[in-house]
Amino acid sequence: MIDLKMYINGEWRDSSNKEKREVMNPATGEVIAEAAEGTVEEAKEAIQVAKETFESGIWSDLAPVERASYLFKIADKIDEYASELASLETMNNGKPLREASFDVADAAACFRYYAGLITKPDGVTYSVADPVQALVVREPVGVCGLIVPWNYPLLMSVWKIAPALAAGNTVVYKPSEVTPLTPVKLFEIFEEVGLPKGVANMVFGSGVTVGNEIAENHDVNLISFTGGTKTGRHIMKAATGNIKKMSLELGGKSPNIIFADADFETAVDYALFGIYAGSGQVCAAGSRILVEESIYDKFVDRFVERAKQINVGPGNDPDTEMGPLVSKEHMERVLEYIEIGKQEGARLVCGGNRMIDNDLENGYFIEPTVFADVNPSMRIVQEEIFGPVVVIEKFKDEHDAISLANSTAYGLAGAVFSNDGAKALRVTKKIRAGITWINTYHNTYNEAPWGGYKQSGVGRALGTYGLDTYQEIKQININLQVEPIGWFSK
Ligand code: NDP
Repeated sequence: MIDLKMYINGEWRDSSNKEKREVMNPATGEVIAEAAEGTVEEAKEAIQVAKETFESGIWSDLAPVERASYLFKIADKIDEYASELASLETMNNGKPLREASFDVADAAACFRYYAGLITKPDGVTYSVADPVQALVVREPVGVCGLIVPWNYPLLMSVWKIAPALAAGNTVVYKPSEVTPLTPVKLFEIFEEVGLPKGVANMVFGSGVTVGNEIAENHDVNLISFTGGTKTGRHIMKAATGNIKKMSLELGGKSPNIIFADADFETAVDYALFGIYAGSGQVCAAGSRILVEESIYDKFVDRFVERAKQINVGPGNDPDTEMGPLVSKEHMERVLEYIEIGKQEGARLVCGGNRMIDNDLENGYFIEPTVFADVNPSMRIVQEEIFGPVVVIEKFKDEHDAISLANSTAYGLAGAVFSNDGAKALRVTKKIRAGITWINTYHNTYNEAPWGGYKQSGVGRALGTYGLDTYQEIKQININLQVEPIGWFSK
């Protein structure tokens, strides 16, 4: 049994109350580890450590090139442990090894990206009225509270930790209680490369206790959260006490618009990838496929034919193309949505069941599921299901497609498939979402910003925008002629 501890001030720690939480393998339902069940006390302690470490300047005062050297070493270690990290991710989250390996490679690349970026020019000067010269410089925000979900346990952590550390902040980080395995390995790497004590602290525990403390505590200067919109709303409220800086990457119900002039097989192929990668547990999943009416029936038939061929199984089987849901609780939530879809009168054309044959009965597997003939008022069309469940909607023309695409509370991502380049760009520009694709889906780059419009969040991760999140901007005005101003009479 793997014994997982928290990491506070450079020490591996159990919780003060000695309680443990079981960590499961979602492909088998087996307990694979026990994690210390952190409490508010540990969260407070970690925050205090992060505050004192920040104020000591041991990290924030290091030259950017020196901080970068740690980040490069971390990236090299992630590469060195790549197969171990990928196996841990598959064992704990369930995703196929192929997907986990991509995440690990991306995590290393993200550390390298921010290691490089932090040593590049970062300020500006302004020519203002003589005799003053104005400078604008960037500084770390201070203590960053980072809360991540279970769908990308390693990668989502790195998207936050890498820019936060590059910028000179200290962090208090909480992984999802469901998926702490790769986070622990990441912190072992931090220890191995000699990251100064207290710079990166990891606490476990439930969101409503430990997560809430991080969001509320006045010594935390910034909160960065990825997860559901409902939780994001709680965090936003909890963070008002000391007006924390905030970055929220929340849910989505992203439209994937397929025009009749698209390359048909390419569109079907990417539509499958858009929804079933990660078993649909992806914030940017293309969970609403919008198809032009002249090809609607043909599209549904072909999509269903392909969906039925997806090889579902445990992630560590090299033949597996789609893994289980992350937990029993989450699987039950997704099955509930499938029932809601049936009751709402949507036409279930594929899947809809838990999979229990072929030795899958102890895991949390759901068939690739497709609902056709849906309408925009249905809950399965409006709400984030976060599973292998897609709805296929019909549209008449460009105007109709745009209006359907924008008809939910979310605005995270969206895609357009068409061989008419001007139309594809025209429609894409009308989608109210922060991440969009034309004739492709899911591509994500460390260089490009990631985040949502509307109720999909606030702020951006990745790219230069992702670094901005973890920096304060300061103006410095220098008087080049030092003499009294003479504003008041003697
Ligand atoms: P949550 O949004 O509840 O969890 C994400 C993270 O936030 C976890 O670390 C969780 O802790 C923490 N958290 C939960 N409540 C609070 C709180 N009050 N204050 C601070 N932190 C908190 O996701 P769920 O696992 O419950 O999933 C619910 C739904 O959210 C999914 O079905 C899906 O629709 C959506 N979701 C979206 C994600 C995305 O990437 N956009 C990712 C995950 C979920 P812990 O779990 O350890 O208690």
